[in-house]
Parts: sequence; C-alpha cells; structure tokens
Amino acid sequence: MVRLTGHRSLSGTYGFVEMFCNDERCDCRRAFIQVLVDVSPRLGDNRPLATISFGWEDESFYRKWASFPLSNEELAELKGPALGIGCSATAAAT
Ligand SMILES: [Zn+2]
Repeated sequence: MVRLTGHRSLSGTYGFVEMFCNDERCDCRRAFIQVLVDVSPRLGDNRPLATISFGWEDESFYRKWASFPLSNEELAELKGPALGIGCSATAAAT
C-alpha cells in the first residue's frame, strides 16, 4: 500500500494486487498488477484504477508463444511492463 500526498488530483492511498496467469494451456508467463485507489472497504468502489501487466520472458519467447506474427505494439503489450488493453485504465494512469 502506498500513500501519495501533495498532488491535488492524485493524492490518496493506493493498493497493488498481483495476479498471475495460471492457465497451463496459456503459459503466457505474465503477471498482472491491479492498482486500487482508496482501498478502505467503507469507500465501496474497489474497481481497479489500472491494470499493469508484466511479461518476464524475452522477445523470442513471446514471438514463439503467439499463434500469429506480432506487431511491435503487440510485442510491447506482452513483454515487459504495459498498461493492459481492455482494462479500466483511466487518464490518471496514462
Ligand atoms: Zn496466460
């Protein structure tokens, strides 16, 4: 948990929840970190502010893993850190 202060629109308490893809048939070797803001349950809304993915294998692994030729943008989404496509990332996370 991280408390950020001194910035009017970003001040708050942030929680980070790590998840790993555990589908043996997928084997994408990526972690997903949900960023939650103001994680106190009494605040109700715990939808993630953003989801960060991280693929820890090298470029050749993800090119082999994909069933189609990857563009540079697709490769950047898989390898290393990236804001997840289709996740509820907001302007604050970009
Ligand atoms: Zn996977």
